[in-house]
This record gives sequence, structure tokens and C-alpha cells, in this order.
Amino acid sequence: MSNLEEIVYKHALINAVKHKGKASNGAIMGSVMATHAELRSEAKKIAQIASQIVTKVNSMDPELQKSELDKLGGMKEKKPVEEKGLVDLPDVKGEVVLRFAPNPSGPLHIGHARAAVLNKEYVKRYGGKLILRIEDTDPRRVDPNAYQMMEEDLKWLGVEWQEKYVQSSRIEIYYEYAEKLIEMGKAYMCTCKGGDFKILKDESKPCPCRELPVEHSMKLWKQMETMGEGEAVLRVKTDIQHKNPAIRDWVAMRVVDEKHPLTGNKYKIYPMMNFSVAVDDHLMGVTHVLRGKDHLANSEKQRYLYNHFGWKVPVFIHYGRLKMEDVALSTSKARQGIEDGLYTGWDDPRLGTIRAIARRGIKQEAITELMMEIGPKISDATVSWKKVYGLNRTILEETSNRYFYVPNPTKIKIENLPESEIGIIKRPLHPDYPERGSREIPFRPELYITTEDLKKTQDGRILRLIDTVNVSFNKGTTSYHSNDLEEARKAKAMIIQWVPVEGSIKAEVVMPDATVTTGFVEPSAVNVKVDDVVQFERFGFARVDKVTDKEIQFYFAHK
Ligand code: GLU
Repeated sequence: MSNLEEIVYKHALINAVKHKGKASNGAIMGSVMATHAELRSEAKKIAQIASQIVTKVNSMDPELQKSELDKLGGMKEKKPVEEKGLVDLPDVKGEVVLRFAPNPSGPLHIGHARAAVLNKEYVKRYGGKLILRIEDTDPRRVDPNAYQMMEEDLKWLGVEWQEKYVQSSRIEIYYEYAEKLIEMGKAYMCTCKGGDFKILKDESKPCPCRELPVEHSMKLWKQMETMGEGEAVLRVKTDIQHKNPAIRDWVAMRVVDEKHPLTGNKYKIYPMMNFSVAVDDHLMGVTHVLRGKDHLANSEKQRYLYNHFGWKVPVFIHYGRLKMEDVALSTSKARQGIEDGLYTGWDDPRLGTIRAIARRGIKQEAITELMMEIGPKISDATVSWKKVYGLNRTILEETSNRYFYVPNPTKIKIENLPESEIGIIKRPLHPDYPERGSREIPFRPELYITTEDLKKTQDGRILRLIDTVNVSFNKGTTSYHSNDLEEARKAKAMIIQWVPVEGSIKAEVVMPDATVTTGFVEPSAVNVKVDDVVQFERFGFARVDKVTDKEIQFYFAHK
């Protein structure tokens, strides 16, 4: 028994045992598909196998059905153990040709990062090339700024491509193949109204256009330029009985009356995604197509085209959906939010775009690592920020220098501070890397501390200012208490960061929810540069976003 037969056999036995010894074809198909999404493209084959197996199972007596089922592990459908991480690609013969093919509807988001990173990593593993293909054949869904934004995002991700194509400059190639298909009788011009076609299609009936001679279709195809939207479409012949109505005679070409940002009004007839994707994947010699499982039916549609032309079908790999906790991944929602003024732009910290993530100080290496861990598995994955932060922290802990930042500051003046305590405090830029040097923070009676820290310290309790002295508060005055660290520890005093009033720099930290904290950073932060990620002691990691002579703006990464 082949693997596939065994799966079907088991489902048939389960179904029979549950239903008084009688398994049903339909139910088996459903349960095989539900538990083995990877087999959906083999539905036809499975249906054939199923009907033979059902006959066999239904002829067994119930005892035999049960014992057969036990041999296969019992009622429980053993889910195939899904391998994690960057599993090997199936059917690799020598080098691979992979492609990353985004639609230019906006910048890349974390979901795109998965496809981009996986493609890059597989090319690295097997050798070969990565193609960047911009799929801009729907002029209504093109953002002219996206071409450049997407390339910037890929560069940030460290994804390099060896060839680049823009589909809007290949329209005539698609015309050529459309024409070939018509000549071969494998595609036809359809002038049915969309609704009429749908009624027939849903009943598995061909529309009248399907039966018309090739010459008729060819003539209409040549006239298509002069037609209005919806007047006619070119359809690829598939199986009009196909169990999925979406696959029955799908549209390959249509008229779009809209100026294209790159080609203007040069073309009116545009290929649908399935047509241009399949033609290009073939012409570009793509060996493996990595795409989301929302494209399962598209892969099935495209197979018809490969078969009509006698082309070798690439290996399709469908991965699951990727959800990111708390972020709107949809480009259209993000765009709407930007237009409505809800978000500040594509790099608003609340968005799941690559540029928003980068702006927050999340490192490319963390995203790469995350995507490699998730790999191309078919089950859905939800990524928590905690996970991203964990990966990022490992990188930042080593690279980020430490500073004091006092958000929401309150000014205090330490009374009776001994002259001997006044001076310069030295703290290492990074405790593990003394060679990086140290910061110098002037310690004087007038300081800023965080209002929350002050509030948490009731009258009489002491509080320790890091590396300096213990102070106590009484009815609004702050007094020197001692400089004994042990005493502070015993008293379980909070040990807090501070900055001098004189010389500290105004700072603003934009938080992940876009709220802003304002305060002061210590004077030595004058050395930070845009893109540095620093660690504010007791506050967390933050990326330097903007430096002016008056103020430094940071974006918060995580604790
Ligand atoms: N441009 C398509 C998309 O981003 C490509 C799909 C595919 O991988 O074939 O959805």
C-alpha cells in the first residue's frame, strides 16, 4: 500500500467503525483534506483511491475493520509530525531557482519577511539564484512608492536578489502566451456577463463561448483593446466539473481601464495573477515556489496552464498564515489608518511593517532567526512580541551601550549633600566590555528622578541613587541620608537612575503604542548617533531615531 493509500485506508476504517461498518466516500475525502492540507492538490487521485478502498472496507466485517484500525494506531488520526525550522526542500536537484514576488501595494510587512527570508536562506543552502519579481499587473493596486520601499525593506532584511523583473514591463510576453493558448484551443474569449457565467459555472456547465471555434476567440482577442471593462475576458479551460468552482475556467486576461503608474495608458489588457505568475515562473526557470496556503487553489489553477503548455510544474510549497500579536498586518488597513491620520506613516510603531519594526530597534538578525525557526510549515503560526523581543535582546544585550534616562522627571535638590560626594560618577558604557570606556555623569545636588520612583517612596523611606548616595524625602524636601550601599540594601530601598539638572539632554521616547514619554538623558548621550540602539538602565532598549542640538528622539524596543 502506498503512503497515500494507507492514509485513505485509515480514514475509511475510522469512518466505517463510527458508522455501523459503512464508510462514505464524501466523509473520507473531507477528513483526509482536513487533516492533510498538503494533499489538497491531489484531491482527484485521492477520490479515485477512496472509492476503491471504501468498497473494500465496507465489505469487511466490523470485527476485521476494528482490528485493521488498531493495527494503524486506532481511532486517533495521527497528525504527521511537522518538522520545525528550515526543513529541506523536497525534490531538489542541484541548484535551485527561487523567487520572491510581492505586489507593490505598500512596503513589506512581517508576513512578507517570511517568504523573503526563507527564499534567501534556501538559495544559500542549495546554491542557485533568487529572483525578485514585482507583480504590478493590477494598476488599481499599485502604490508608486512601493517599488522603492520594498527594495529598501529587502536590503534591510539582508535579502539580495540576482535578477529583478517588473511584470508591467512584460505585458507583451503574457499576450504572446495568451495567444498561443487560444491557438491551442486551451483558452477562449468569454463575453458572458459575469453573473451568467457564474450560474453556469456553479452548475458545472460550460458557457456558450467555450464551444465557439478558435478563430472566433482569436478575433475577439484581437479586438479586446477596443473593449470596455467587463465586456470580455480570456478564460483558461480547466475542468468544468472541478470540485472547486473557483478553478473552473478561470480568467487569464481582462480589460482594466486605469492608468498604470509605470506604463501609463500603454496597455488596457492585463493578465490576472495566476496567468502572469505561472508564465513567469516557467520562463524564469523557477524550481520551487514558496507561497502561503491561501494560494492553494491558485497553485491548482496554475497546474492547468503548465499542463496545457506541457511545461514542468515547479515544486509548490505552501506555508501557513503568520499572525503577529497586536498588529494590523494588512496593507490596506495600514494605508487607511495613515490616510485617516491614525498612524503617522508606514513606520508607525503600531504597524507590522518591516520599517516600523526596524524603527523600533528590532534587528534584522532577530527577524531572520524568527523566520528560520518558523520555517515553511503549513500550520498557522502566531508570533508573540515576547518571542521577537527575546531573540532581539540576545543581540542587543551585547551591542547596546548603557545610559541613564529619566522619563517623566521631577526635579529634586538634595539638602546637606556633603561636598565630598559632589563630583563625576564613572559608569562603564557596557559592564561586560570595559574596553568600550565609560560615561561620566556629574553628580550635584540638583537632579532629575522619575516621578513614579519618587511617588513610590513614602515619607521617611530611603532611596538610593545609583552609584552615589542614599536620600530620604520628607514633606517635599530631599535630604542626604548616607552613602552606605549596604544600608540601602537592608532597607530594601529602590536603587534608581538619575541625571543632573545641569548638562542633561532633553529626550523623547516613542513607545510601541505610539505614546511618548519625555524626560532627560545623561550628558554623555551626546555621543549617540541615529540608528544606535542603547539600553536605558531600568527602562529598556531604545533606538536613536533623531538627534538635534536641542533634543534626542528614541523609539522604544523592549525591556
Ligand atoms: N504576487 C503574489 C502575492 O504576493 C505572488 C503569489 C505567489 O507566490 O505566486 O500574493
